[in-house]
Amino acid sequence: MLSPFTILERKRAGQSLTEQEIAAFVRGAKDQTWGDAELAALLMAIAIRGMDPAETRALTSAMLLSGERWDLAAEHPGVVDKHSTGGVGDKVSLLLAPLLAACGVPVAMLTGRSLGHTGGTADKLESIPGLDLALDRARTLDLLRRTGVAIGIATAEIAPADRRLYSLRHRTATIGSLPLIVASILSKKLAAGAQAIVFDVKAGNGAFLPDPEESRRLAAALVETCRAMGRPAAALRTDMSQPLGEWVGHTAEVAETLAALEGRGRPDLMAVTFALAQEAARLVGVELSQARLQAAVDSGAARERFTDWARAQGADEAWLARPDLTLAPIAMPLRAARSGKLSRVDTHRLGVLFAQVSGADGRSSAIDYAVALRCLARLGDPIVARDELATLYLRRADTDAADAFAACFEIADEAVVPVLIER
Ligand code: URA
Repeated sequence: MLSPFTILERKRAGQSLTEQEIAAFVRGAKDQTWGDAELAALLMAIAIRGMDPAETRALTSAMLLSGERWDLAAEHPGVVDKHSTGGVGDKVSLLLAPLLAACGVPVAMLTGRSLGHTGGTADKLESIPGLDLALDRARTLDLLRRTGVAIGIATAEIAPADRRLYSLRHRTATIGSLPLIVASILSKKLAAGAQAIVFDVKAGNGAFLPDPEESRRLAAALVETCRAMGRPAAALRTDMSQPLGEWVGHTAEVAETLAALEGRGRPDLMAVTFALAQEAARLVGVELSQARLQAAVDSGAARERFTDWARAQGADEAWLARPDLTLAPIAMPLRAARSGKLSRVDTHRLGVLFAQVSGADGRSSAIDYAVALRCLARLGDPIVARDELATLYLRRADTDAADAFAACFEIADEAVVPVLIER
């Protein structure tokens, strides 16, 4: 057996680990033969010393092989997956899946819970009464055959080594290590086994990796590793220096998704969704023009597909007939203290605040789906003093939350408007 001590010594000295050494580390994480001390030490050595592309591939592959593999594309060719590195107000997955399916491109996604300041698609979807995200391979394939959409939550059987490593990364300040991020994301994505994967790598102050160069490197590493493992992939970098769309919230983002599917989506949300849909379709040989995507919205086909899919995944018939999208009753508007232009949104802080007030930060026993925040002003917009910039919807008035909310928005004489989509 390869000794953890020797592997640790080699990585500490900056040497490249072999496939066998990396497999021993991942096996040790899964079957508990490595203790937390050895695992944490190697995670830190990797975070400091890095990994070359071959090591990153070996780590991804070992983590993938640590659990179930569904290989959905073998039975359902042409199925695509989309992954976002996480954002605030990012409801693209909810919108993109029925839209692509309505254009003949099936979508299967295993989504995650809210993490840190970023919202989780799984939590947002669970605000729909009855919707059941517990999928296995057979149910996923059945959903794909019936509706062209399957959205679930990663099970304990998918890449199990990642669970232990992920929680150790949180405790050891190694969450930001590029090879560890790539292997963690890809092991779960590759396990589900779509034919191709499109990545939405967020950039800007609300992104998981706010530094532009780091987010570029992450996009390149995700795509290169995926392709080297035989899976077509593409990535777009999209802006997260302000929330995407108008709303942040669980029920609120479902409501915004339905409005967007009915042709009332805000331009930034629609632009990011269409661009990712086009990239995903191209990876499986389908060219989707803007006009084709718009027609799927205008004809009602995409909205109808949302209902068909939600029904197939257990959503309440009464809710589907008349979606209850009631928000928390106390509206706390934030008014501009001066005139100028909206020059900065502290999106990370906004995400943390939302997670706290909604209970999505893991500290409450339940999430309050009705808590929401609405962003009316966009970066660069001209503002007149007393204009409503944004509004917080809470169960009860909370002046601390209102103060924290106000500190997230800045107005200046000039403002730089960030690029929304970078290819
Ligand atoms: N999401 C994951 O699943 N893993 C990471 O390391 C980062 C984001």
